[in-house]
Order: sequence, then structure tokens, then C-alpha cells
Amino acid sequence: MKRRALLGISLLMNTSLVFSQNRIKDEETDVVVVGGGIGGLTAAVSCREKGLTVILLEKMSFLGGDSLKSGGYFNAVTEEAKRNGTDSIELFKKQIFESGGGFSDKEVVSVLAEKSGESLEWLKAQGVKFMPAPRHIYGSLWNRAYKPLMPSGTGYIQVLTNNCFKNNVDIRTSSKVIELLRHESSEAIIGVLVEKHGMRYEIRAKKGVVLASGGFGANKELLKRSSENFFGLGTDSHPGATGDLLPLAEKIGAKIQNLQFVECVPGGDERITDPVRLDYDPGKIIFVDENGDRFVEETSPRSNIFEKYKAKQIKHCYTIADSKAVESVDLMRRKHLYRGLYSGLAWRKDSLDELAECLGLNADRLKKSAKKLQNKGLLNQPPYWAVKVVFRIHTTLGGLCIDKNAMVLNVDGEAIRGLYACGQIIGNLHGRNRLGGNGLNSAVVFARMAVETMSKNSNDNLQF
Ligand SMILES: Cc1cc2nc3c(=O)[nH]c(=O)nc-3n(C[C@H](O)[C@H](O)[C@H](O)COP(=O)(O)OP(=O)(O)OC[C@H]3O[C@@H](n4cnc5c(N)ncnc54)[C@H](O)[C@@H]3O)c2cc1C
Repeated sequence: MKRRALLGISLLMNTSLVFSQNRIKDEETDVVVVGGGIGGLTAAVSCREKGLTVILLEKMSFLGGDSLKSGGYFNAVTEEAKRNGTDSIELFKKQIFESGGGFSDKEVVSVLAEKSGESLEWLKAQGVKFMPAPRHIYGSLWNRAYKPLMPSGTGYIQVLTNNCFKNNVDIRTSSKVIELLRHESSEAIIGVLVEKHGMRYEIRAKKGVVLASGGFGANKELLKRSSENFFGLGTDSHPGATGDLLPLAEKIGAKIQNLQFVECVPGGDERITDPVRLDYDPGKIIFVDENGDRFVEETSPRSNIFEKYKAKQIKHCYTIADSKAVESVDLMRRKHLYRGLYSGLAWRKDSLDELAECLGLNADRLKKSAKKLQNKGLLNQPPYWAVKVVFRIHTTLGGLCIDKNAMVLNVDGEAIRGLYACGQIIGNLHGRNRLGGNGLNSAVVFARMAVETMSKNSNDNLQF
């Protein structure tokens, strides 16, 4: 039986035969995890909790992916919020599904909403420390985004990486997965082909392969093929976000969906690495066009804001905030904002009239636009700030279809044995819009679910 399985692999892997002179020894483990962002690290730690051996492969020379760059906001419906009546699973599900415009899978959405709270608790138990109260962030539609004490995504990556080392996870950086190995007769996914410094080798996975390899926000070619709308925009993604696993999964029959949906948020042009933004709390700012008029409800879903901006062919868009709103921006981002003041990307003036004058806006129209917040006692604390809004790519929303157990589906909608996915590579979760704060949680929830599913099939050795 084993001989037949091994023959199956080598027949499938033409590439591995071609490069046989550069091969190093093949290996075997219970689980292979592809990607070293929050999804991959969560999957690896969860494997060790279940007593499974695991090898984590990361193509870059460092861990973190987009997770490290992220703002760190993690949407969760906690037991406390349920008890207080300030939030509910039903509301969260409804908001995800409706803002996704019918392009997401209801069952997958339900899992995210239902498991977000316990995943937040799991992260706390791992050692990630959070601020006590949740926040309403840009595009989150509700007050449920929890922020770690450490800046950006550093808290998650540091804590989970340490736990991987403590628990003997075999982490390999500069190790790129270039092929998924499929069993010839059962068609289960039984491992991966890895390339490291020009050498190739196979790792067989007895229990499964978890794809946690992120999105494709840094792959200009794939973005261009997905939709013309995003051509030429800058990107927030890290350079490794190239969607490598999508063609590999497609080759073994996986279903891919929603590649045309790409989330764009205010940031800056292609040259900017640290966006200068004021819109983190959408309830405290206004967006105005080149005339000083508001053109969109600032608290609406991210996709609506970008679509309105595109549809109205706005020449210049500015975010306006007062000093109180700026003080509530976290330190790291406030630093970028102050840098913006000196590099001509942000402005600060003592009155709205002066701000209008320096931006070339109509002062009366700007003051009329400000009334929306001023009537609620906001946007009235000088000095006033403005930044120029240039939308850029933030997250890709398309990718692999999974079921509620985090198993990857084939084009006929059946689960592919041995293949799991979590995080930004999932394509049937967010639909046409991702709620702000629903990136990191989707990685943690489905990484844990993948390992849960694998451990339920504990007698299943995919190699036979
Ligand atoms: C600037 C910014 C701010 C954000 N802020 C938030 C926020 O506040 N809250 C939120 O919920 N979401 C946020 N997001 C989105 C969030 O960061 C992502 O949705 C999330 O980090 C995805 O996690 P992941 O583990 O799926 O992928 P990643 O963290 O991107 O990890 C994927 C890893 O896989 C590796 N990889 C890719 N291909 C291969 C291969 N062939 N072989 C081996 N390794 C491979 C990559 O190099 C990468 O390290 C933000 C994104 C950005 C860019």
C-alpha cells in the first residue's frame, strides 16, 4: 500500500524529477502549515495542543506576513458583550453577510461569528494582552474590535512564535511551497514540495496541510487580471503577499472565488510605506471632496466608501479631524501623522476657515460639512487636521472556498481530503466587503477549526 502511495507522488511531481539533482532528503510529519502569519502560527500552536507534530514553512526570511503590519484590531463577540446586551452573534453574522453583498457563504460566516469570542480568549490564554474596551474602527460597523497592548500586529506574532518554539514546532523560514502533493488514487493532499535556497524536497503530511499563505495584494499581475479597478494603486500588503498557493490549489481542483473583490482604504500613493491617516475612528472624522462637500457616510462599509469615491470621480479627497480625534489615534500612527505634517501629507490649522484656505476648499461648504459631527459635540476642538486621501489596496477578498470545518472545497463543492485553509487565502467568507477587524480573527478562527477537524479524523493517515 505504502509503495503505491509513494509511486503516486513521484508520478504526479514531474517538477521534482526534473530537479532531482538538487534534491535533499524527503521528510514526514503529521501536519504541514504553509505561511508564518497569525493564521499559520495559530495552526502550528494548535497542532501541538492536540499532540500533532508540525512543520511550518514560511517563504520569507522572517515571520509575520500582513499580520505583523496589521493594526491588530480583532473583532469578537465576547460573553461579556452578550451578557450586557451590547452585541450578539446574530448581529455580527448579519453585518458580515449583508455587507458582503451575498457573495459569502452563510455557514462559513456563522463559524467566524460564533467562534470569534473563544478565539480571542484563546489568544489571551496564549499570552496576548488586550486593551479592556473594544472599539469601532474604520469599516467595522460596530464596537467590537479588540486591540492588543503591543503596537500593530507585533503582539500576536511575538507571543505565538515564542509558543511555537516552546512547544517544539519546527519553523522553517526561506522555505517556499511550490507544489501540493496529491495521492494518486485517493486524491487526498498528502504533502508539499518545498524549495529552499535552490534545493527541493518533499514533506509528507499524515494528517493534512493547512494553507495560511495570505492574500495577493502585492501581486500586480494577478490584481490586474482580477479587476482593472485596482491597477496602479499602492498597496498595504507585505512583499510576500503574492497568492502563490492559489494556482497550486487550482491545479489540484480547488474552487477559487471572488478574486475581483479587493478592499481599498485611505492610505497614500505607491511610494508610501507608512500611511498617513486620520480615519481610524470613522465616527470622529469627515471625508470631503475638492469642494469641501461630504460625499459618503463615513461609518459605512469600506467597499461603499471606495465605490462612492470612484463613482463620483473625486479629484481630491481629504479626511478632516479635530485635535481630540487625533489624540485618540495610537502612538505609532500618530507618529506617522506628525511626520506627514513635515512632509506635506498632513495639515494642521487653528480654524476650519484657515484649513479650507490652505487646501483650496470652499470654507462655507467645509463648515457646513463639519456640522454633521459638531451637532453631536464632535469636530469642534482646534487645531483642525486634514490629510489627503489616496486610496490603496489593503486586502484581497477572493481565494479558496472552504466549508464550515475549514476544509478546502473542490470545483464540485466537495471537501478535498487533507487540505485546509485559514485567513486571507479564504475566498468565500467576506464577499465584496470585509468588515474592519475581520482579517486577523478569520485567520485564528479557521486555523483552530482546521486543527480541530484534523484531530477528529485522528485515525485517518492520508498516506495510505
Ligand atoms: C496595513 C494593514 C493593516 C491591517 N489591519 C488589520 C486590522 O487591524 N485588523 C484585521 O483584522 N485585519 C487587518 N489587516 C488584514 C490582516 O492583516 C490579514 O487579513 C491577516 O493578517 C491575514 O493573516 P494570514 O495569516 O492569513 O496571512 P499573512 O499574515 O499575510 O501570512 C501569510 C504568510 O504566508 C507566507 N507565504 C505566502 N506564500 C507562501 C509560500 N508559497 N510558501 C511559504 N510561505 C508563503 C507569506 O510570506 C506570509 O508570511 C490589515 C492588513 C494590512 C496590510
